[in-house]
Amino acid sequence: MGSVQAPKTLDPKGFSRLYINGEYVKSSSDRYLTLKNPKDNSLVSENVPIANEHDVDLAVKHAEAAFCGPWSKMTALARSGCLLKLADLLQDHLLAILTLDSLTSGNPVSLIPTRETTYIRNCLLYYSGWTDKLKGDYFPADDGFVKLVRQEPLGVCAAINPFNAPVATLILKAAPCLATGNVLIVKPSEKTPLGSLAMGAMFEKAGFPPGVIQVLSGDGSTGALLAKHMKIRKISFTGSVSTGKAIQVAAAQSNLKRVTLELGGKSPAIIFEDANIENALTWTVGAILARSGQVCVSATRVYVQESVAEEFIAEYTKRIAAAANDLGDPQDASVKLGPLVDETQFRRVRAIVERGKTEATLLVGGTRHGETGCYIEPAVFINPDIDAEVYKNEIFGPVAVIKTFRDEDDVLRLANDTEFGLMSGVFTKDISRALRVSSLLDTGVVGVNCVSYMNMQAPFGGRKQSGIGREFGEYALRAYTEPKTVLINMNA
Ligand code: NAD
Repeated sequence: MGSVQAPKTLDPKGFSRLYINGEYVKSSSDRYLTLKNPKDNSLVSENVPIANEHDVDLAVKHAEAAFCGPWSKMTALARSGCLLKLADLLQDHLLAILTLDSLTSGNPVSLIPTRETTYIRNCLLYYSGWTDKLKGDYFPADDGFVKLVRQEPLGVCAAINPFNAPVATLILKAAPCLATGNVLIVKPSEKTPLGSLAMGAMFEKAGFPPGVIQVLSGDGSTGALLAKHMKIRKISFTGSVSTGKAIQVAAAQSNLKRVTLELGGKSPAIIFEDANIENALTWTVGAILARSGQVCVSATRVYVQESVAEEFIAEYTKRIAAAANDLGDPQDASVKLGPLVDETQFRRVRAIVERGKTEATLLVGGTRHGETGCYIEPAVFINPDIDAEVYKNEIFGPVAVIKTFRDEDDVLRLANDTEFGLMSGVFTKDISRALRVSSLLDTGVVGVNCVSYMNMQAPFGGRKQSGIGREFGEYALRAYTEPKTVLINMNA
């Protein structure tokens, strides 16, 4: 079990250093982030450093030493032990760490005991079981050569993370990366770095040697230094399409480091007339409200068949309108919905909603909620122009667009007419239709009678401009290793 002295709260001002080689050290940069609480724009901290080139080089140097040091000598079972110990430690510490994160992310602390904790714990338990299962391959000496294939770690990897679920994203990348014997430098978002900085020390407490995990706070400039670094062998990126492209370019122009990209989405949910409408409502409403719409797999395009459209749209809109009453203080454990992450995101989403009124019909929401903070009332548009911004672009806020359709061909054409391809959902009781439509939807993940849902055991990732590569399951392990072939001459 974890330590009995776990703190109940963490002071954001206590995180003014980078986590390098097992210690919180002063940055050599003189630039700092200004972090505010989006519930009222009050100052949370202005002393979180923006790691510079010197800091990045120092972390890479320690990462290389750790990769070749005691970490490389640890058995697979010892690596499992570290992951399990971390899962246990977090039982006592995660509440404080995620509450700290909530101060800048605006994610409701009510999500912590269930959704967040389960996801993080399950990820650590899942990958702790994988450390000794990548067994490689063997081919007999039919031609005089025995062939052995080993799955070997890549070395120094870096995770560049988005703002919306910082600690969950860190764990999701760290667990398969470390399970396969790599080392990791984490660069959290400039909007939400605190929980990730706090996580650094947890790894060492769990037995990971210094330098195996390091956390560098910073902005895009820090991310760019990692992306072009000649000694980093892989970037695992989650974030927007435009940043993903910049990272891909930097990787190609530097050392051809491996790149995994988990990018944006504009996920369609398709409700056929034979669907269980109550089930479809539960999933689609939940999918646009979670984290106030700041989720990559959020079901932002809802297609409903004409014969059931009136009934569905009325109830969907009623529930979205009612959800405005759930908005509140994210640090209050009874509150379900929080603000958007910051003033920039708030202004961006408000502007998109205003422009959207000229291209679609706004049924409900989209206005500022309350007097202060970055709260926006969840919004529903219907009947968008086919190239409307609200219909085509990722908004990353609680804004859904509903469109009706005639038949299967009609809706498949509409749903696939996008550059995104992360997730989709199909709601029907007809198993043949479910299987047919799921194979024709051009997305990396398809939910049948569910949407905006991820499962640790199965690959997750996007098609088209929603990404490259897959996370989760065994696929993530493959993305952190490369095969090495050993040819043994049996006639020497
Ligand atoms: P973002 O692209 O603005 O930033 C993500 C990270 O990239 C941050 O840490 C940022 O500092 C860093 N960065 C910025 N410029 C960089 C550069 N030139 N080089 C290297 N790093 C740089 O994304 P965001 O606003 O934090 O997150 C929202 C986006 O993330 C949405 O598009 C959302 O769909 C996507 N997202 C995707 C998934 C997924 O699994 N597919 C999950 C969550 C979020």
